[in-house]
Amino acid sequence: MNVQLAPYAIDNAQSLGRRQPESSPGYRTEFQRDRDRIVHSTAFRRLEYKTQVFVNHEGDLFRTRLTHSIEVAQIGRAIARAMQLNEDLTEAIALAHDLGHTPFGHAGQDALNACMKPYGGFEHNFQSLRVVDKLEEKYAEFNGLNLTFETREGILKHCSQTNAQKIGSLGTRFLENTQPSLEAQLANIADEIAYNNHDVDDGLRAGLIKTEQLCSVPIFEMQWKLVSSTYPDLNPRRAIHETIRRMISALVADLIKTTNLNLSNHKPTNAAAVRALTHPLVSFSPDVASQHHALKRFLRANLYTHYRVHRMTSKAKTILEELFTAFFEDPRLLPEDHYQKAMASGKTGGDTGKARIVSDYIAGMTDRYAIAEHKRLFEPTQQV
Ligand code: MG
Repeated sequence: MNVQLAPYAIDNAQSLGRRQPESSPGYRTEFQRDRDRIVHSTAFRRLEYKTQVFVNHEGDLFRTRLTHSIEVAQIGRAIARAMQLNEDLTEAIALAHDLGHTPFGHAGQDALNACMKPYGGFEHNFQSLRVVDKLEEKYAEFNGLNLTFETREGILKHCSQTNAQKIGSLGTRFLENTQPSLEAQLANIADEIAYNNHDVDDGLRAGLIKTEQLCSVPIFEMQWKLVSSTYPDLNPRRAIHETIRRMISALVADLIKTTNLNLSNHKPTNAAAVRALTHPLVSFSPDVASQHHALKRFLRANLYTHYRVHRMTSKAKTILEELFTAFFEDPRLLPEDHYQKAMASGKTGGDTGKARIVSDYIAGMTDRYAIAEHKRLFEPTQQV
C-alpha cells in the first residue's frame, strides 16, 4: 500500500544524501536501501547475543538487543504509517539505533566509558554511528554502510558537544539545540515505549518484580485492574500480556493524538521547519508523560538495581575493565587484524588512537564472546 506522506515527513526523493554519492537504488527507496544494509550488517546479527537487561544465558524468553530493536521498529512503523510519516526511514533508524551497544547493556557502556575517559570517552549512540560510518567492512567502494543523512541523523539520539563538533552537519543540531526529523523523534520515543513495557514483562517473568508492587504505578494499575475485572479467570501470564499490550496501545494513542495537536499548532510546512524548532513535536501529553516517567522510575528503583541484576552488572564491569586494560597495555594480545589496526591508529593518534581500536573491539563483542575472551586471557587452562 502506498501511503501519501505528510508535507512535514521526510520525502523519499529529497534525501540530503550519502557521504559517498551512489546511484539511485532503483526499485527501492533510499531508506529501504538503508534498512536493508542494516539488516545485512554484522553488527545487527550480533544484537541477538547482546544484553538488554537480562544476560542472554539467563533464559530463552527474555528480550535481547535484537528483539528489542525489532519491537522498536514495530511500534515506530505503526505510528509512522498512522501519521503519514516515512515508515521506511523510521524502521531503518529503529533497527540501527542500538548497533553501537557494548555487551552487557548499560553496565557495559558505563564500564567502557570509564576505561575510555582519558581517551575521549565512549558513548553508545556515537558508537552506533561509528559502526554504520566506519566499522562495517562489507562494501567494495566504502567503509561502513554509507547510509543517508536522515538515517544517521536518527541514529545519533544524543551527542556530547565535543563529539558534535567533529561530525559536520550531523552535529549542528546539538550545538544549536534544534531538532531532528519527526521520524527520528518518533524512533526515539518508540525506543522508550518498547523498553519500559518489555522490561515490565521480563522483570515479572524473572520474578524480580511483582504485580502487587507494579500497582503503585498508575499506568500499570489502571490497565491491570481493567483486565482483572473483565477477565477474572484469566491465567496470570495472559493477564500480564493483556495488560502490557493495553499499556502500549494507550501510550501510542496518546502519542499520536498529542503529536497531531502539536503539528496543528505549529503547522510546519516541511521537514526543514520541523528541524528548525527548539523543541520536539513528537510527544506525549503532560499527563501521560508523567505516568510514563513514573513507570521508568519504578523500573530503575526495583528492577535495574535489583541485586540479581546488579550481580551480573558487577561481573560485566569487571570483565570489560580487565579486557580493556589487558589489550591496551599489551596490544599483541589482540587478534591479528585488530592488532594491526591498533598499531596503525597508535602511530597517528598515540594512546588515544590505540585506545579507540581496543574500545571498538570490545564494544563489538557479544556477551558470550566477551565472557569467552576473558576466559581465554585470564584462565591458564583455557584454550587460547
Ligand atoms: Mg534501545
